[in-house]
Amino acid sequence: MLSQANSHSAQPIEGPLIVIKADDLLYREDGTIFGQNWLQFIEIAQEKGIKISIGIICHSLENAQLEYFEKIRALHAAGQIEFWNHGITHRRDQESGQSEFKGASMDSQLDTLVRAQALAVEKLGFSFTSFGSPYNHFDQNTAAALRAVPELKTWLYGDEQAQLVPGQVVLGRSILLEQPVHHPNFENFVRDFEASPDRPYYILQAHPGGWDRERFEQFLQVIQYLQAKKATFMLPRELRNQLISAETGD
Ligand SMILES: [Zn+2]
Repeated sequence: MLSQANSHSAQPIEGPLIVIKADDLLYREDGTIFGQNWLQFIEIAQEKGIKISIGIICHSLENAQLEYFEKIRALHAAGQIEFWNHGITHRRDQESGQSEFKGASMDSQLDTLVRAQALAVEKLGFSFTSFGSPYNHFDQNTAAALRAVPELKTWLYGDEQAQLVPGQVVLGRSILLEQPVHHPNFENFVRDFEASPDRPYYILQAHPGGWDRERFEQFLQVIQYLQAKKATFMLPRELRNQLISAETGD
């Protein structure tokens, strides 16, 4: 798929294709707007010149201060960050395991997607084109709900067996940045990457809101390693376009 994509691209892409999928942006009331960790994470991306994507827990779009919306708008407009739909409540029932996209009815899942899309338009002035569910949960209703929202074209860590509408793609998970979750792990990442160096792309999930200094250091090592491999860091929507044009030969 990749070699086909290369043969049709103006600029051939040599190294691995990477999407950084950073979860759980919220409004902070401590005056920092995003919280120090997110600011540091975005600063690293800017310094390293890499594109990243950030999932917004969309209840934060309901009640935040204007500065939150302005900051997201400005980063969106700069084009280095894609913000995406990460549901609204991010709640999970500890006993049943039910969450917004697992165990909820098709109507409820669709309502969550649509309300988050509407909040983005209302508060941010743009539509999300990518979706990733809280906890990466899904069930058989999730694909049906997504089919009803075709403006969501990219499903991060979604159901790779899902029947979606033409133009919608699942960007699946392979090797992990955080091992375990919330802990970037350079050594394990390199081990896993070197064991599977020829995948068409790598979607790397991150939760920078919970990292400490050591975890940021591990993340930086991974970025430097990938840059030495001539990786291209893409937005989810860019990778989706690349995969679709590879398929159709455009
Ligand atoms: Zn999350």
